[in-house]
Amino acid sequence: MHALLPGGRSQIERWFPGFGREAVEQGALASEAHQSEQWIDDERAVSAPNVVLLNGSRTFMEGLLRRRTLALPNVRLVPDAATGLTYRDGRVSGVRLSTADDGVVPADFVVDAMGRSSRMAAWLERDGWQAPPLERMQIDVNYATAYFARSEDAPRVAVATSRVSPDYPKKTHAALTAVENGRWMLLQMTYGEDRPPQDQDGFRARCADLPPVFAEVARSEPIGEVHTFRLAEARRRRYDTLDRIPGGLVSVGDAVASFNPIYGQGMSSAALHASCLSEYLCATSDATGVATRFFELQKVVVDAAWDLSTQSDAQRLETGRPPLPVRVQRALVDQVLAAAVVDIPVATAFNEVAFMNAHPSTLAAPSVVLRSVVANVRARARAARSSRRT
Ligand SMILES: Cc1cc2nc3c(=O)[nH]c(=O)nc-3n(C[C@H](O)[C@H](O)[C@H](O)COP(=O)(O)OP(=O)(O)OC[C@H]3O[C@@H](n4cnc5c(N)ncnc54)[C@H](O)[C@@H]3O)c2cc1C
Repeated sequence: MHALLPGGRSQIERWFPGFGREAVEQGALASEAHQSEQWIDDERAVSAPNVVLLNGSRTFMEGLLRRRTLALPNVRLVPDAATGLTYRDGRVSGVRLSTADDGVVPADFVVDAMGRSSRMAAWLERDGWQAPPLERMQIDVNYATAYFARSEDAPRVAVATSRVSPDYPKKTHAALTAVENGRWMLLQMTYGEDRPPQDQDGFRARCADLPPVFAEVARSEPIGEVHTFRLAEARRRRYDTLDRIPGGLVSVGDAVASFNPIYGQGMSSAALHASCLSEYLCATSDATGVATRFFELQKVVVDAAWDLSTQSDAQRLETGRPPLPVRVQRALVDQVLAAAVVDIPVATAFNEVAFMNAHPSTLAAPSVVLRSVVANVRARARAARSSRRT
C-alpha cells in the first residue's frame, strides 16, 4: 500500500498543475474529513478538518506522474540502466549506460534518483571520490496488502487508519483506502516475528480484530492475492557530510533516505527534495559546482522525516532507560499524541506534521503543548465521570 500525503501532493501539484484534478478524472478518489476514520488503540480519534486526501494506488499515481513527465518537451527517456559516471575537471560530465557499446550520455548535471538500492555511493568510491556514510536504523517491519471489491453500498468511509501504541496488547497496525477501479486497498502491518497472514482467510480473520470498518471491508469479495513485504532497516546516506564529491551531482528520494513505510513519507520526501533542487538551481549561478547548498536544503527535509520515524522505532526497540532530556521530550510528544485523539485543534496540528505540511518543531510550540495538557486533563476527568455513572 502507498498513500500520497497532502504535503507531497501539494509539491507535485506545484510541478504538474492540475495533477489532482486529472487523477480524479481518471479514477482516483478525493476524500473529505468526514469520510475518514482514525483509530488509536481501538479508540476513535476526533475528526480533524485537514484530513483531505487524494486516494489511488501507487501504480496509478506513478503512471500519471510518469505520463506528465514524459510529456514535457525537454524530457527524453533512455531505456538503459546507468552503470557509472564520467568526470571532467572535478565535475560530472556524463552517465555511463549498460548498452552493448558502453554508451555515455553527456551531462552537465546528474540527479541520482535510483532509489533505496542506488549504486551511486559504490560508483563514487570506485572512482576515487568519497562515498557518503550510511546510517541505518533497524525497523523489521512486515507489510501485507490485499484488495477487495468496493460495491455501491460500501461504507461511506474512504480512508481509515488504526494505530497501536507499543504497550497496547494488540500489535497489528492497519490502513484502508478506497482506490481506483472500484477497489479497497487494505494493509496490515506488524513488527518483528509477528508477521501478518499471507493467505486470504488468515488476512480476513485478523481484520475481525481491527476496528469495525476494517472487518466490514474484509467481508467484501477479495481481488487477487495477499501481497507481503518485509523491510529490515531504514537507511540514510549522508551526502551532506562529504568534502570530496564531484560538482554537478545530487541525490534525491530513497537514494538519500528511505524510512519505515508506516509513516507514508517516502514519495512526499522525494517531492520535497525536488523542490529543494528547484530552489538550489534557481539560486545558483553555476550548477556544475559542488552542490553543497542543495545538500544543506535537503538536510532540513531529511532530518525532519528521519527524526519523526526513527524516534518511534528507537523507542520501540530500546532496552535501557533513556537519558533525562529524551524522557522529557517523549513526555511532551506523548501529551500531544494523546490530545490528538480527543482535541480537534491538536489533531489538526499533529496532522499537518504527519502530512509533511509542517515541520515537527511546530508541535513543540508552547501553545500546542499547553492545549494538549489541558485537553488530556479534561478527557481524563470526562472518563472518570462517565465511569462513576456506570
Ligand atoms: C512496503 C512499502 C510501503 C510504502 N508506503 C509508502 C506510502 O504509503 N507513502 C509513501 O509516500 N511512500 C511509501 N513507501 C516509500 C516509497 O515507495 C519510496 O519512498 C519511493 O518509491 C521513493 O521514490 P524514488 O523515486 O526515490 O525511488 P524508487 O521508487 O525506488 O525509484 C527508483 C527507480 O530507479 C530505477 N533504477 C535503479 N537503479 C537504476 C539504474 N542503475 N539505472 C536506471 N534506473 C535505475 C529503479 O528501477 C526505479 O524505477 C513505501 C515503501 C515500501 C517498501
